[in-house]
Amino acid sequence: MTSLPLIPVTPDAPGRRPAMPPRHLADLDLSGRQEAVTELGEPAFRARQVSTHYFGRLVRDPARMTDLPAATRDRLAERLLPTLLTPVRELACDDGATRKALWRLHDGSLVESVLMGYPDRVTVCISSQAGCGMACPFCATGQAGLTRNLSTAEIVDQAVYLAGVAASGAVSGSPPRLSHVVFMGMGEPLANYSRVVAAIRRLVAPPPEGLGLSQRHITVSTVGLVPAIQRLASEDLAVTLALSLHAPDDDLRDELVPVNQRWKVAEVLEAAWDYADRTGRRVSIEYAMIKDVNDQPWRADLLGRLLAGRLAHVNLIPLNPTPGSRWDASPKPVEREFVRRLRAAGVSTTVRDTRGREIDGACGQLAAAEERDTEPPREATA
Ligand code: SAH
Repeated sequence: MTSLPLIPVTPDAPGRRPAMPPRHLADLDLSGRQEAVTELGEPAFRARQVSTHYFGRLVRDPARMTDLPAATRDRLAERLLPTLLTPVRELACDDGATRKALWRLHDGSLVESVLMGYPDRVTVCISSQAGCGMACPFCATGQAGLTRNLSTAEIVDQAVYLAGVAASGAVSGSPPRLSHVVFMGMGEPLANYSRVVAAIRRLVAPPPEGLGLSQRHITVSTVGLVPAIQRLASEDLAVTLALSLHAPDDDLRDELVPVNQRWKVAEVLEAAWDYADRTGRRVSIEYAMIKDVNDQPWRADLLGRLLAGRLAHVNLIPLNPTPGSRWDASPKPVEREFVRRLRAAGVSTTVRDTRGREIDGACGQLAAAEERDTEPPREATA
């Protein structure tokens, strides 16, 4: 087994100062927006008007903000609603129930989001960083490393934009209103802690301050940055925590989730149980099923022993093989036996439905494909 170098994981680590995007109203709470419009020489109530367009009506085109004087509309929009996300590609599959968006940010970075419609709900999967520094070897995003943290508004705008797509009736057979957000796109949300928490506050604040989603309909997925999990447990937020475990033993998890070299399985589970106690929320344990790597019956039994009696639910994810990867998804009978053993141990377990496979559905694959397509030939860069 290869041992991977220990990577720096300090949340919000100082150091490089990458170019952040212009300030946007979603970076600010309502009083911050009121200050911003006052600085522009506008009455404070304009903040509420623009916020109502953006969060309440999902309108971002100043021409449609007819309650604002024509003379100030463009200026307010320019200062409060700068374009953060430029769509590069939008792809649909599963008969239109899954739509994937690839965005270019102001500095050229690429990130992706996914809109998933179900009969009873609409979920968006959003990115928290351009790239990711966590280096999980089975994940497409992990291969390229971290480019930069997204701003609060870049995170929020993915959800608001796709909420607008859903509201237009684009997701057939689903309600028009966005109800769920999962931080399972590109990046490690807890490594961009303060911006992610601010983004969650915008998502749950009632309109016009925010999008008005329910806290329990928001899921933050993490590799397991223990101090950040502890910090999240002490916020006045009860969002769902998803822990990307992927192995019940340190030997294997050190390889699959390299941050395990810093915080071991026992420590990260302790933090998860503490989170469950303090928030009353069941923790979701994510486990990608990788053929002959982590799918053995003994690992199912070990996982069952670790989780039995806890406020936990296991989400098995059939591995989505990344281009050039040596790994494959577990065969279905192996997956079924894994589920059977977990359930026999009394652990609630489901297998994640695999939306969007044919559009490079998950895990940074669309952005990776775009980078490959647009990469100059080797000779040109040598
Ligand atoms: N960095 C966070 C969130 C992003 S990834 C985290 O790791 O939790 C969301 C989930 O997709 C994680 O559980 C991640 O391990 C999983 N994942 C990444 N690449 C995958 C792949 N190729 N196949 C299946 N699941 C994958």
